[in-house]
Amino acid sequence: MEVNKVVSPDSFRESILEVLCPLLFPGTSGGKEVLEMVSIKVIGVAVLVLVVVGVAAFLVFKAGEQGKKVLKVGTSPDFPPFEYVAANGTIMGFDIELMRLIAKKSGYDDIEIVSMDFDSLIPALEQGQIDVIAAGMTITEEREKRVDFSIPYWEADQAILVRVGSGFKPQRVEDLEGKTVGVQTGTTAADYLKSLVDEKGLNINIKEYSSYVLAIQDLLAGRIDAVMVDTPVAKMFEKRYKDKLAIAIIVKTGEKYGFAVQEGNKELLEKINKTLQEIMQSPEWDKLVQKYFGSEKLPGT
Ligand code: GLN
Repeated sequence: MEVNKVVSPDSFRESILEVLCPLLFPGTSGGKEVLEMVSIKVIGVAVLVLVVVGVAAFLVFKAGEQGKKVLKVGTSPDFPPFEYVAANGTIMGFDIELMRLIAKKSGYDDIEIVSMDFDSLIPALEQGQIDVIAAGMTITEEREKRVDFSIPYWEADQAILVRVGSGFKPQRVEDLEGKTVGVQTGTTAADYLKSLVDEKGLNINIKEYSSYVLAIQDLLAGRIDAVMVDTPVAKMFEKRYKDKLAIAIIVKTGEKYGFAVQEGNKELLEKINKTLQEIMQSPEWDKLVQKYFGSEKLPGT
């Protein structure tokens, strides 16, 4: 069969546009210009549709979120067994699980863990980034000026941890003279060490860390001579680094831990106190204590 004329689809489309365009779009010169205009418009519309769909999806998601009552819990997960990072990366611990129970009993659907350095917790609470601090935090007069504490839920003293085999075996805090002692910034241990320097005139090199985990690493590596940390946590590190770390001194400070809420947040504080009291008198408490203090190995590690 003989084909007289082959019209390519492109040239066919162009010739149609040449004819139609000046009619449909007066003021344009023809096909190419209109094609460009149309494609710019198409892209514009596509972008607009994407933005609208995106915003709608976000709003639907937010609406769902808002329907849920979530308690924002601030913590510093370097304080085992109260809070620590488990092998799978999740934040676990006695405080976390206790807070989850409290939240559930107080009518919350869930808790959201917000992790930060210990000394950022009170500022974050003041700024409303978190609803409550659960971080083995000692109730002190100084902190009471800025936050409101729950009823106490744990008691602790301070311990000096040293490296086994280092030859340094302090018996009294005076033996820390001339030594480097690691501590987490903003803690009662840091305050205590500073008081030894300022009030007792001891020459102690206080090395502050953002996290106790880093302080312990430096102690294990021999970069510092000791670490001062709360007794329950010192015992946990001693257990975890058996034959490597040992408690040398215990200083009776008689500290009590509480959960902190924003100053004046009576509603939340009352809920926490009521449910905490209930839990502490129930078998749930013993189960929790057994889980985090009773075993050789920390759950999830
Ligand atoms: N209990 C101590 C304090 O409140 C240490 C708490 C911590 O390091 N998480 O300062």
